[in-house]
Amino acid sequence: MTNAATQVVSADLNDAATELEVVWGDRHGSRYPLKLLRGECPCASCRTEREDAKRNPFHMLGPEIRPASFELGDVEPVGGYGLRFIWKDGHSTGIYTFDYLREICPCEDCRAGRKQDEVPYVHGIFIPG
Ligand SMILES: [Zn+2]
Ligand SMILES: [Zn+2]
Repeated sequence: MTNAATQVVSADLNDAATELEVVWGDRHGSRYPLKLLRGECPCASCRTEREDAKRNPFHMLGPEIRPASFELGDVEPVGGYGLRFIWKDGHSTGIYTFDYLREICPCEDCRAGRKQDEVPYVHGIFIPG
């Protein structure tokens, strides 16, 4: 089964190398700031780090942890279902599936669509739509 919305037609760095421009099979275009991509790295160690930071916002990173690089060295396709980003600091364990990339598309339309899916609870109070 192929879903055009989660097939990447092209993925290119913009000229300033600050954003990745992805064109999808349904002609949708996404522009991902590299900071966002790195911040959403789906690898196990980045996920753990984000969980820790959520639990304890004052958590200090050890001196052995270098600040993450937001410069992209290379992009490799992974088995027709995802992309692997190789960051300039050598981090390359995160595989971003097309589904995941589409899910984190930061454009207005996608953000608005995601909001509608959210349960309309604010601080435990149901807000009728
Ligand atoms: Zn990672
Ligand atoms: Zn979008």
